[in-house]
Parts: sequence; structure tokens; C-alpha cells
Amino acid sequence: MAEGVTPRSEDYSRWYQDIIREAELADYGPVRGTMVIRPYGYAIWENIQKALDRRFKATGHQNAYFPMFIPYSFIEKEKEHVEGFSPELALVTIGGGKELEEPLVVRPTSETIINYMFAKWVQSYRDLPLLINQWANVVRWEMRTRPFLRTLEFLWQEGHTAHATYEEAEEEALRMIEIYRDFAENEGAVPVVVGRKSRLERFAGALHTYTMEAMMGDKKALQAGTSHNLGQNFAKAFGIQFLDENNELQYAWQTSWGVSTRFVGAVIMVHGDDQGLRLPPRLAPIQVVIVPIWRKEQERESVEQSAQRVREQLENAGIRVHLDDREEHTPGWKFNFWEMKGVPVRIEIGPRDVAKGAFVLARRDIPGKEGKTFDHPIEEAASRVQALLDEIQRNLLEQARAFRDANIHDVRTYDELREVIAAGGWARGYWAGSDDDERRVKEETGATLRCFPFEQPGEPGVCFMTGQEATEVAIFAKAY
Ligand code: AMP
Repeated sequence: MAEGVTPRSEDYSRWYQDIIREAELADYGPVRGTMVIRPYGYAIWENIQKALDRRFKATGHQNAYFPMFIPYSFIEKEKEHVEGFSPELALVTIGGGKELEEPLVVRPTSETIINYMFAKWVQSYRDLPLLINQWANVVRWEMRTRPFLRTLEFLWQEGHTAHATYEEAEEEALRMIEIYRDFAENEGAVPVVVGRKSRLERFAGALHTYTMEAMMGDKKALQAGTSHNLGQNFAKAFGIQFLDENNELQYAWQTSWGVSTRFVGAVIMVHGDDQGLRLPPRLAPIQVVIVPIWRKEQERESVEQSAQRVREQLENAGIRVHLDDREEHTPGWKFNFWEMKGVPVRIEIGPRDVAKGAFVLARRDIPGKEGKTFDHPIEEAASRVQALLDEIQRNLLEQARAFRDANIHDVRTYDELREVIAAGGWARGYWAGSDDDERRVKEETGATLRCFPFEQPGEPGVCFMTGQEATEVAIFAKAY
């Protein structure tokens, strides 16, 4: 198995593609830039969905579904939105063999169609806030694509809300980026920097875009989720008006926010190693695999009985467990196979363990002998395994956080930024530059302004580019 994977340090990009193939996460679709999500990859996505959906509902949001075809004229209604999205639109011009009167856009995002509907549903302040989420596929005709990270069609959730005041919309946009952070760190074990996008990088049509940025194993940044305060831009374009408590007509204030199948790519890139995937237990489709080990036929029955007992105990405790009792493969082959698949915990049970009423635990986050512990009593299977899963979840986050923090460097001059970026790290420094300055950094170094992190030094400093006083630091990095 592992022979099929290019070492991560040798060629990160090939390593990523190899993992996706060998762990059977996805395959390429026949149309350039499209992707087939295979069952194992889809099971990770389903766990992502559950973790997010739970959080959305706990904060008062409801799921709904809107059509994927949008009249072209809708997209044109918000000026910045159409400018931002036109290059990536897929249009349907023929339906049922006939030229359509108006081309239809295959949704690249649903602000336009959802706000068209909101305009019908919102009349009074009593109709607000309106808190909707949609699970859907969207299409953006991207030029450079990569499985999960950037595909022509991707799956995501998109939240769309309408509020009575600017403050409420702002509070919602911030609440949702905090929910994303909590999800990324506590479910995905993916540490993120949360912050605000620059004018150049924000969503087409938004007042503010908040983002969570994650550092991949090659130190590139990945925008792992975004939350936008849309102000009244779409409300004005689509006429979402309500009578406030003083009976005056007001435009609604809005937000939208999304996390996509890109997050599966983040999990692969943050945690994977040369042996394959390493999945955080909370997102792993299989948390524990049991590999029975026996040589002689007379050992078989008792080993299998023990394995069954352990499996039942774990299942009853709600742990996602799989017993690999295939006879056509050796235990060694199975070890490699499940390591490639990133299963966090392996249980080994052999004749000597059976004699002791015990089993062996091997953890995926610590390779080889160091990651093995022995003599766990079968009666304690559930508690022992749960404790180890929690420990692995914590450890993966800590490892990723240590790696990230070691690769963020404070810079005081543009030369220092160039050095940091050339060496492949994130540069953090005071920034008061113009849009043109920001473009220049991108052209000359390949790095983009990822965000102004919420976590700030708390005192003003000197902009590394212009020498002027700056109130905030920004993070620059090369990104996917
Ligand atoms: P946006 O509506 O542009 O803010 O997108 C919401 C989130 O979807 C982004 O933060 C990305 O994480 C993700 N995303 C954007 N474009 C793509 C793409 N082509 N493929 C996969 N995920 C994407």
C-alpha cells in the first residue's frame, strides 16, 4: 500500500494526490475540474455535515432548499457581485432543445435567488431575524483545480440571514465565524487563524468578510470557511424591506456564510503523513479497527470470539468500530491498509492476548512501537478506547498548532516579508498599505493578504511597507 505514496517531503502535491487515490477518498470526473467523492471520502463529509448542522440548529437556523437555476438577470442586480462572479459562471442557454429566452445561471452561490425569495417573506420586523441554511452543490468555473480544495462543482452549506439592524447582522457574521473556528479546531483538529479579509480579498458584494485560515503541511494557507456581513447591498438590489416598530420602511441587513468540501482537503493536508491519512477521531468514519491475529486453526475461534466481544462493547458505547476479519489478507497487510485510511486506533488481538483476557492498542498519531500499549482488559474496552480517542483528538490539534505557530514570523520590513515568504512561511506585520501595495506584494512574492487576525497586539505600530502608523497587523502567505 504505502509504496504507492510519494513521500510528503519529496513532492507535497503528488503526495496529496496519492493519498486521495490510495485512501479511496475521491476520483477525477470526466469533465476537467470535477470530482467524484467516493464512499470513504463522502463519509468524512457526512461527519463534517453533522458537526456543522448541529451547531447551526443550536443557534436557531433552519435548513431549506432553493433551486440551482438562477435567472441571469438576478446575478446582474448587485454590481460587485456580478463583477466578482461573471468569470466563473456556468450558463444554461438551451432547455428541452429550445433556446431559452433568458440564460440561466447554475448557482455559484445563492445570495441572489435566496434574497429574491426573502423579499417576499419579509414584511415586518416580526419576520426578522430570518435564519436559513442550505446544503447544496454549487458551480464555479475555476481555471486551476485540485481535488477537494478547488473544484468546478463542490458541496457546501450556505447560510443566509436577514436582520433588522446593522449590529445584529454584524453579530451574526461574527457568531458564525466563531462557530466555524470551534468546528475546525474541535472536530477537525485543524487550528485556524480567524480574522477579517482585506478590501481586495473580501466576497463580491460584502461589507466585511471574516475568514478562518488554516496552515497546510507545506505551510501554504487555505481559506477554510468564510462569513460575510453583506450590509444592505442585496436587500437594496432585491427589495427586502420591512416595517420597523415605528412603522417606517427599512431595508434588511444581511449575512451569508459557507464551508465546503474543501474542508476534507484541509484535514488531509494538515494531518496526513507518509503512511497516509491521519483522521481526527471526531470526523473519522471508522474510529477503531480490530485486527484479529491467529496462525493455527485452533487459535482462530477464541481470537474471533474476543474480537467480537470487544467490537460489541465499543458499538454499545457509540464508538464507530470495524472488525476486519477478512481471510485473504495478512494482519501486516491490514495494518498498512488501515493506516493509509487514517483510522485513529487499531486493536490487535492474538492468542496470547486472549489468554490474558486483554487486547493491544495502537494509535495512528504515533507511528511504530511507541504508539502501542498492551494488556488492556477486555471489560474496559469502551473506556480505554474512548480515552485514547480523546487523547488523539487533542494531540492532532496540538501537533498542528505547534507546527503552525513555529511557521508564523513577525516582519518589520518588506525585505523581511520577502525572506519569510521565500522560505515558505506566514509573515505577520503591521499593515497600512493601499490596494496597490497589496497587489504589489502578490505580484512580487506570490503571497496574498490572508487576513487581519482578530488577535492583535493591542497597540499601533509601523507599517512594514509604507512606514506609516498602522493600527493592525496582517498575515501574508502563499495560499491554495
Ligand atoms: P465564498 O462564498 O466564496 O465565501 O465561499 C465559501 C467557502 O467555500 C470558501 O471560504 C471556501 O472555503 C469554499 N470554496 C470556495 N470556492 C471553492 C471551490 N472552487 N471548491 C471548493 N471550495 C470552495
